[in-house]
Amino acid sequence: MSRIGRFLKSFFLVDMLRGLAVTLRLYFSRKVTVQYPEQVQEPAERFRGIVRLYRDDKGEPLCIACKACQRACGTNCFDIEGKKEEGAKVMRPTKFDWKLDRCTFCGFCVEVCPTNAIRFSREFRLTGTDKDGLLFHLPDMYLAGEDLQSYLCAGCRRPR
Ligand code: SF4
Ligand code: SF4
Repeated sequence: MSRIGRFLKSFFLVDMLRGLAVTLRLYFSRKVTVQYPEQVQEPAERFRGIVRLYRDDKGEPLCIACKACQRACGTNCFDIEGKKEEGAKVMRPTKFDWKLDRCTFCGFCVEVCPTNAIRFSREFRLTGTDKDGLLFHLPDMYLAGEDLQSYLCAGCRRPR
């Protein structure tokens, strides 16, 4: 650009007007910002959140304490023990510890589970204020949604 061209461009504040035009265009366009935490956006269907234990339609636990997930996990997230009660058809876990801070969300545990008991939830809020808060025991593994949030929030965590 010639010297005269550069002079005219700066004299008529062309760059500033261009910038203002962008501001005005965005000001009147549809807003995409979500006012978190008041508004929580649903993650995508395929999103991998914290793994949870699930029950069947009748409320029966699906986990049979086979430890396949424990064997598949490369980062030793699990510590599972199980017992078959007298007269029961299947074994149930008596201990099911899971460490969130070790999980790489690889999905091996979910893939190998024969009963579809362990699955990724869509919970993406993973923060805890101390390491103990990231260790889940058997009842905690069934928590979902806001219950899980209360658990992870140290201020409202229940005594163990
Ligand atoms: S997702 Fe991977 S790292 Fe996390 S608990 Fe399952 S197997 Fe372990
Ligand atoms: S969650 Fe699934 S793989 Fe893990 S112990 Fe229970 S039934 Fe077995």
